[in-house]
Amino acid sequence: MRRRLIVGNWKMCGDFRTNQKRLEDLSSLWFGVHQTEVSVSPAYPYLAQAAGMLENTNISLCAQDVSTRENGAFTGEVSAAMLADMGCRYVMVGHSERRHYHNEGYDLIAEKFQAVCEAKMIPILCLGETTADREADRTFDVIGRQLLKVVNACGLEGLAKGVVAYEPIWAIGTGRAATPEQAQDVHSYIREILGPEGEQIRILYGGSVKPDTAEGLFAKKDIDGALVGGASLDARDFVAICRAA
Ligand code: PEP
Repeated sequence: MRRRLIVGNWKMCGDFRTNQKRLEDLSSLWFGVHQTEVSVSPAYPYLAQAAGMLENTNISLCAQDVSTRENGAFTGEVSAAMLADMGCRYVMVGHSERRHYHNEGYDLIAEKFQAVCEAKMIPILCLGETTADREADRTFDVIGRQLLKVVNACGLEGLAKGVVAYEPIWAIGTGRAATPEQAQDVHSYIREILGPEGEQIRILYGGSVKPDTAEGLFAKKDIDGALVGGASLDARDFVAICRAA
């Protein structure tokens, strides 16, 4: 039985004061015992703030990226050990904004995935195709390639330590979420590639998930939760999505 997971990706948004309010709202709205697991991902400078405020709640912490380096003279980098030290449970790797704006390639992403596992946290491997890929009928090829690069580096057993997030790039921040059928097709393809090992791996959907689209997506059998960007900045909307899961 795969436990549902909703992760709020705050990206490079917020400041100390707005985060404080959002975290207060979130912990009071998402109070008590729930089947669904919830995690939030503030920008690096605010991880300590969030860790402190979420300490006695059932909301965990997720980092948006990680370095492959362990320590030393790597200015600007943040190691997996540091993120674990801050109390992170999850770390995203391969988000399309990192692949696109920072030219992160397959090998680096696989190395990041491994670094997170070695530090005893859970990587969330983001995969997704562009509009051009979809229009050219290359969605499955692209997703398969992105996934297999990590499987080849870490093995199926290694991949099973993480979570996969299918995030079509054309759906991120556009207000145009994939339909539940489009998402389910890719999720079931991912599960098919992973074989029996894949039965336990959680596969999240990400891309313009909102309270009104969440329920339809979560009704699909291979969609185990969501990676939520824009809507996670509003505690009420985010909690509505968590409740739908
Ligand atoms: C994301 O960037 O991971 C994301 C899913 O963003 P949004 O929900 O805003 O589309």
